[in-house]
Order: sequence, then structure tokens, then C-alpha cells
Amino acid sequence: MTGKFDNTINKMRLKKLNKTLNSINKMSHVFSEYTDEALKAKTQEFKKRIMESKATLDQILPEAYAVVRESAYRVLGMYPKDVQVLGAIVMHQGNIAEMQTGEGKTLTATMPLYLNALTGKRAFLITTNDYLAKRDCMEMKPLYEWLGLTASLGFIDIPDYEYEAGEKQNLYAHDIIYTTNGRLGFDYLTDNLADHKRTKFLPELQFAILDEVDSIILDAAQTPLVISGAPRLQSNLFDIVKEFVHTLKDGQHFKLDKNKKEIWLTKQGIDKASNYFKVHHLYDEINFDLVRIINLSLRAKYLFDYNLDYLVSNGEIVLIDRITGRMLPGTKLQSGLHQAIEAKEDVELSIDKSVMATITFQNLFKLFDKFAGMTGTGKQGEKEFFELYSKIVVEIPTDKPIQRQDLEDRVFANMEEKNQAIIDFVVEKHKKSQPVLLITRTAEAAEYFSANLFQLDIPNNLLIAQNVSKEAQMISEAGNRAAVTVATSMAGRGTDIKLAEGVHEIGGLAVIINEHMENSRVDRQLRGRSGRQGDPGVSQIFVSLDDYIVKKWSQSKMIENDKLKKINSEILENSKIFQMKVNNIVNKAQTVSEETSIVQREMANEFEKSISVQRDLIYKERDRILDMVDKNQFDYKQLAKDVFRNDLKKFNINDKKDIISYIYKNLSFNFESNNVKIDVFNQEAIVNFLIQHFIHQFEDNQKKASDPYFILRYIQKSIIKAIDMAWIEQVDYLQQLKSNVNNRQNGQRNAIYEYHKVALESYEIMTMKLKRNIIRNLCLSIITFDKHGDLVIYFP
Ligand code: ADP
Repeated sequence: MTGKFDNTINKMRLKKLNKTLNSINKMSHVFSEYTDEALKAKTQEFKKRIMESKATLDQILPEAYAVVRESAYRVLGMYPKDVQVLGAIVMHQGNIAEMQTGEGKTLTATMPLYLNALTGKRAFLITTNDYLAKRDCMEMKPLYEWLGLTASLGFIDIPDYEYEAGEKQNLYAHDIIYTTNGRLGFDYLTDNLADHKRTKFLPELQFAILDEVDSIILDAAQTPLVISGAPRLQSNLFDIVKEFVHTLKDGQHFKLDKNKKEIWLTKQGIDKASNYFKVHHLYDEINFDLVRIINLSLRAKYLFDYNLDYLVSNGEIVLIDRITGRMLPGTKLQSGLHQAIEAKEDVELSIDKSVMATITFQNLFKLFDKFAGMTGTGKQGEKEFFELYSKIVVEIPTDKPIQRQDLEDRVFANMEEKNQAIIDFVVEKHKKSQPVLLITRTAEAAEYFSANLFQLDIPNNLLIAQNVSKEAQMISEAGNRAAVTVATSMAGRGTDIKLAEGVHEIGGLAVIINEHMENSRVDRQLRGRSGRQGDPGVSQIFVSLDDYIVKKWSQSKMIENDKLKKINSEILENSKIFQMKVNNIVNKAQTVSEETSIVQREMANEFEKSISVQRDLIYKERDRILDMVDKNQFDYKQLAKDVFRNDLKKFNINDKKDIISYIYKNLSFNFESNNVKIDVFNQEAIVNFLIQHFIHQFEDNQKKASDPYFILRYIQKSIIKAIDMAWIEQVDYLQQLKSNVNNRQNGQRNAIYEYHKVALESYEIMTMKLKRNIIRNLCLSIITFDKHGDLVIYFP
């Protein structure tokens, strides 16, 4: 899999790690002599040394790891092996440890988690689903507690649970926290919508380990986390634009790069649109919505394929997961794309919700001071990990040599013959009572094989990623004698398959994969279900020209060749040349698919840069306001001056009537407009007049809030509300802008440049809006108290 050069580098890295391992091993003998009490006391001693700056974490590492090792043996009955310690060192360094399935990553993680939690700050273990987080937390918690640290699940494991005030603070108030990437991400976004310091709950993000780091950061990169807000006003343009898009010719009016998922109008196309919709300059601000819908409709028509990307079921668009081929009912594309596909398929348009807050997983983990990862298949992602985070991937050798045989692909012309061969293969293995795990890309295929095997009187377990804990249980039994398990690629992930007695002798677990997945990393993960901890085993992938990746990604003419498909399968199976050809097509398709994902991730990252810079600024400002203890930390007068100076110009305010209406709108509902005396030709005089009025109104409101605590709260709430209103609008705007610039000019560089430019401009506009909101909220909000005497504010 990896080249010679990589191998040499890896060996050098391991050599260095081995030195540390040796010093840990030396200490092991010392600690094995310790009493339980003496061993437990080490935690407090380490903490003290760190607190008093007598030692760094790096210096404590050997001793701390030796302590965890000895404790794990006493508490859990497992003594972390040398290879596990190597992985643990890699992770403390903030890098990625590649460790094969079954090597014991759960136990490995306890060492760096323990070490990093000694600082008194939190250490997180992030997994891909609730079940895994809960299972790992329960298994490892006794160890941490024995050592005098606390550990907790970062969530309450009840569907749609409504958290009570303070509950989340408690969950996060532990040294070590097990949670999922999705949960943490949503908590981060929600935490930054809090309007009081007391209701913020997320601790400082110090250290995290990401289990299956490639799944979290690479595979899940396409779908950012989103908190949806209010329904967006439905555009009535979809149907008209759809007609227009029908008239466009590929190459002439628009250009298309299917692999990069890019589509853009040519000069001719832009002219045509301008004529069609009778607008002067298509890209003027005023046509924002039109451009957006044209672009969405083009994307929907040319970049989304029926049956591959989505299908229509019961009058609704149902998306299909690219990686697993699973249907995703209830999942919707963002920012109008879903509606564009609905228009394309003539189904009723659903409601498009605005985006209130969003973050990608890539950026979420950048918020940690340090994070590390572990996975069975990191090496293939190393280039990306390095570019994104400067992380290296260290391949940790297995404790025992891998014995699994990964067989060459078996090649067929079409799906029917391939499926028959797969069934024959299962039957053959089953006759010998060898356990079989048949993995399919889609749930439909899994159901098909399961039903066919039942017809042949072969009982089997069907797992289609529906009930995580039940399926984890079922897959853990897949190594039993004569067991046949049919599963989709996601089903039962992260669960160890142990071989039952007598199964070693008959060849271990046979993994059969019905087609190559979109990414060879996933293929490798699937093969790795067999052959854990030096077990025997075999893996075999079946391919044909009807495979999904071929249909989706291949540009080969051969796949159209029906004559070829009619040739007798036996001839095909024996024709080396044909097999090679098909193999090439499949491999190429997979490479295209992988490269496409990389490019798309790069693009997504590029686009994310603007929003991420802006989000950081806004969230920092929010925190500054929430942390405010003295109302005079904020310069209200300066703010008012900025706003008024800007607004006089912007709204062309130059007579008495304008000034009065501005005051009604922003400063006061009950303004006495009769005896206003201002020199309307002197801008500064107007500004000063407005400032005086602002200060008057502001002081009035402070009097209403009466005591200093409530005054501060009224000010904080007004400012936070102003920030959120402006920011939420901005997030949604940026989201839409993304699809808008995508079809300006050809070539992606320009689009990204354009996006950042407009994003920056819009940020400046937003800042002014935000400041105006603050003035408005401070002046126009209605301050009352409820029956408990708590402050209640109604904002304008
Ligand atoms: P991975 O996540 O790397 O696939 P797991 O963490 O699920 O592996 O561990 C696989 C199995 O090995 C588990 O049953 C675990 O209890 C066991 N195990 C891990 N480390 C050790 C060890 N040092 N000694 C004995 N058993 C271990």
C-alpha cells in the first residue's frame, strides 16, 4: 500500500518512539511493586508537579503511561501492549496513529487522555456515534476513576432529550469526556447562541482524540453541521428558471466539470440570461436571487443524477448517501439546492429553512489546542491531514503479524453473473462452516443477498445500519462457526469480531465485498473486519461493469459495450485480458472518485475560510460582551457617532422630516417632534443632536432597569441580540453567496476569489447593521419585570 520511501520514514519515526517506549518499559517494573494506594497517589503528585510548573506533560509522559498501564492491568485486567503504548505516544504528540482493527484503540486512548487531563482541563474522546461513545466510556471509566479522575458521557443517551438548566455544564465538568463529533459540534454552535455567561456550558477545548479520524474529518467533510432558523421566503423563480435552463446548450451557454461538480455560464449564456429575464447586468446585486436560482437549477439538472444521487419516493426527493448508497430520508440539501431538484422533478417544493449557525468538522477540531486521531486506515489520507493540520500519520505495527489474505478482485461483465458468483462463494464457504461476512454498498443489495441465501436454506443475519446497538451485538457474533452475516458497510462499525473456537482451523472469517466503495480507504476498513490480532482470514472483492462507481465515475467506452456483456461468463472468467481491462476501469473509476472528493473537500475548505474568520470574530465579541462586568467597558458614544455619521450619508438624511423619522425608527417611539431646532445643513450638528437624544433615551432605560445588575443585563442582552440578528442573517447570506459565485466566470480560482471579496464586503456592511441594531435595541427595547422580579426585555 505504501511506497518504500514511506516505509523508511515510518521506520525512522518508530525508532524515535521506541526510545520513549523503552523508558516507559523500564518504569513498569517499579510500578508493578507499588501498592494500589501508592499507585493511585501518583495522579495527585503529577497534577501538583504540573501546577507548580515543575514538569511538562512531555516530561511526565513516560511515568504517567507506566502508571496507566499498571492500573489498567489491575482494574481492567488488560496490560497495554508495547504497540499500544507507541500509538499512545503518537497521539499525545497530536498526530495520527494508524492501528489495525482489533489492536485495542479504546485502551490505547486512555493513556493520552489521562496524561492531558492532568492539566485540570478537559480531554475528549470523539467517536462517530452515540453507541460507540457510550460503550467505550463505560468500559474505560472504572480505570479513570480508580486513578482519581472523573469521566463522563458528554450527552444524555435518550432520544430528543430536553436538557435542564445546568445539566450540560455538569456533563462537561469531567476530566475526560466521551462524545460524538455531531454532538460536540451542535453544542459548540448552541453554546454560542447563549445570552448569558451562566448558560454557557462548553469548557475550554484543550485536547481531543478522534476515533476513526478519517471518517470524521475526510468522509463527513461534505456535510457541515447546520442549525436551521426561520423558513426562508420561497422564491417563485424556480419554475421559470427551469424553463430557461432547458434552452441552454452545453459548451455554448454553459460549461460543466462533472468531476469537480462545477458548472458555470459562458459569456453567451450570461447574455442569453440577461435577454431572457430582461435585466441589464446579470451580476448586479439586485439580481442576487435570480443568479442564485439559475445556478441552483443548472446544478440540479446537470450535477445530480436520478438513482445515483437521489430518487423520488411518495412525491418527495430522497437523497442517497454517496459513500454507502443508503437512502437518506429526511435529509435535505441546503440553501435552495433541494428545492431546485424538486423543481427539476416536478414535485412540490418543500420549505427552505435559513441557516442560523454552521461549522464544518474540519474547523470544529481546529478549535482545540491540540487534537490527535486513531484509525485503521489513516495512511491514505496523510497528505490531506498534513495539508489541513500539519499532522503526520504513523503506522503502528500490529502486535502479531497479519495473516489475512486479501485476494485479487474477481471480475464479471454484469451484475447478474457477479451476484450469482457471490452467492456460490458464500455457499462454498458455508459448506465448510467457515463464517462469512458479506458486505454490500447498499441496503437493497444486502436485502437481496439475504433473501436469496434464505431460499438456499442458509440462515443469515441482516444488518442494514438501522439499530446500532442491536447490530453491534449481531456483528460481534459474525465470527461464530457457520455464521452468515449480510451487512452494509456502515453496519456494526467499530465492533470487534472475535473468532469462536474451532474457527481458526477452518480459515477464520471470510469477508466478501460486493463492489468497490467510492474510496479505497473504505475498502480497506471493510477488509479489516477479518484478521484481527493475527487471526486467519480472507477478503475478496467482486467487481463488474455494472458497479456503482463505474456508472458514476468511469468515462470508459467499454462499459457501453453490450456485446461484451453477452459473452459467456466462463470465457470471461478465464480471459486474463478481459479481467485486466475491467479491473483497470474499476480502479480508474475509484481513483477519479477519490480525487473528486479531495478536490471537493479542498473547495469546501477554501469557501469555509471566510465564514470561519468571521465566525471567530463574532464569537469572540459575543464572549467579550458576556464577560463584561462593568457597563463602562463599552464606548456607547463612539458607537453612536459611527452609526449616525454613516446613516446620514447612507440614507440621505438632510431635512427635518428625515431626521424625525430616523429618530422614530431607531431611537424613540415617543419623540416630541414639534419644537426641534437643528441646523440641517450642518452634518456634525445633526450627529450631535442624535447623540444627545440617544444618551437621553439610554439613561432613561437604565433608570427603568433600576439596579446595577439589571442595567448590565439589559445592556448585554441588547448587544448580544443585536450581534445575533446581524450574524444569523450574515451566515445565511454567505451560504447563499457560495452557490451564487460558483457560476461566475470559469475556473474555480476566480470563484473563490470572488467569494472572499464579496464576503469581506458583506462583513463590513453587516458590522454597520450590527452597530445600528445595538443602538436600536438599547433605545427601543421595552424593559419590564416578571412576577418573580426577573428582568424581561422585549426587543423592537
Ligand atoms: P479496535 O478499536 O482497535 O478495533 P478494540 O479497542 O475494540 O480494538 O479492542 C479489541 C479487543 O481487544 C477488545 O476486546 C479489547 O478488550 C481487547 N484488548 C485491547 N487491548 C488489550 C490488551 N492490552 N490486552 C488484552 N486485551 C486487549
